[in-house]
Amino acid sequence: MLANVSRGKLYGAPRGTQDILPQDQPYWTFVKEKAAEVCRRYGYQRIDTPIFEQTALFSRSVGEGTDIVDKQMYTFDDRGGDSMTLRPEGTAPVCRAYIEHGMHNLRQPVRLYYIAPIFRYERPQAGRYRQHWQFGAEAIGEAHPALDAEAIGLAWHFYASLGLRDLTLQLNSIGCRSCRSTYLEKLKDYYAAHARSLCPDCKARLSRNPLRLLDCKKPSCQEIVKVAPRITEHLCQECNRHFRAVKDYLEHMQIPFELNPYLVRGLDYYTRTVFEVQPRDIGGQSALGGGGRYDDLIEELGGKPTPAVGFGTGLERVILNLRKQGIEPPSPDSARVYVASVGEQARKEAMRLATALRQRGMSVTTSSGDISLKSQLKQANSLGATHTVIVGEDELRRGVVVVRAMAEGEQKEVPLDEAASQLSAEVQVGRGPA
Ligand code: AMP
Repeated sequence: MLANVSRGKLYGAPRGTQDILPQDQPYWTFVKEKAAEVCRRYGYQRIDTPIFEQTALFSRSVGEGTDIVDKQMYTFDDRGGDSMTLRPEGTAPVCRAYIEHGMHNLRQPVRLYYIAPIFRYERPQAGRYRQHWQFGAEAIGEAHPALDAEAIGLAWHFYASLGLRDLTLQLNSIGCRSCRSTYLEKLKDYYAAHARSLCPDCKARLSRNPLRLLDCKKPSCQEIVKVAPRITEHLCQECNRHFRAVKDYLEHMQIPFELNPYLVRGLDYYTRTVFEVQPRDIGGQSALGGGGRYDDLIEELGGKPTPAVGFGTGLERVILNLRKQGIEPPSPDSARVYVASVGEQARKEAMRLATALRQRGMSVTTSSGDISLKSQLKQANSLGATHTVIVGEDELRRGVVVVRAMAEGEQKEVPLDEAASQLSAEVQVGRGPA
């Protein structure tokens, strides 16, 4: 804050947050529309949940001992003394809503998606913010491996529909409650022998959250990870069968994947399938998105035992990668009309005409302030107007206006009372206002 004051600004956006300015909006519209479209094709329906929830919802689901719960949640007591937390992830709130609204009575699985702001107190850097947006999809109420492949397919097709290239899909299974606990014992035994060489974070993980030991990116720990026991070699028969089927479906869907036995996720609720999508040129820190199966979560949150699978992707990172790959969002190229006027009487006519044009679906800007016709035409140009209507004093006396097609530079006189209908016939309406 003081730094801002010294630069002459009293306030800045909070660290790790950003304004999405008008020039960035086409990217956001593009990405959100593609998300909605891919969900329509896969039969997922939109759900919106509150921005904050009871803190226990997250500590219970994401898990004590995870970075999110231990270090990153925006938690506060409300005025009634209840502990609330700004949503640090999207799955637990959707599961809470599934239980609360008795969605187990609907035809299963229930397929839902959300596009929502997420809050995590992280160290800000490129692609890592304290408020970011996630698009997530969840299929709740079905244990079949075909649903895992569907969730992965949805994620993959979302990125493809945006034109993103050079992505890799990393796949792993982290087993179920029973085979994982046997595996974790083996993992802990192995790590105990290396305890002295571990980084401080991994020392803490060893007792609190051993699976996350596999996820450490520190070079010294990576050496230890390399020869650690692999979960995929300790899966029970059922988990093995499930994993084989997921891989088989993905092959049939022609979705390329790479097996990564060290892939675990930062949230505790995952079971069996986990996956991440990454840009090929960037290391493991920068997943575009990821997800997996979470068969125990709904029961954990007080619902009936209900299997589920889902994924989430950060929209800022998606947009960063679009920019990096030179992919531009389609421009909102609907007709823009500028109505120029000279004199007060003409301005009144211009306001009337502008209203009539807007009612016909056009995007219209009128001149503001007392500026010359020349300046108004300049303004029309810089706004990217396709047509400018000039309401002049002389023309007005003759009951006409001048309509100028900006690209061609051609202009003609049109009777004032026909201007709205003629213009709307001429410009392409219906692509929505810019
Ligand atoms: P997670 O909920 O941790 O599995 O994250 C899912 C996706 O959300 C990640 O792959 C990122 O694309 C995105 N994401 C997570 N944390 C952040 C963050 N702090 N800033 C921006 N994007 C994030």
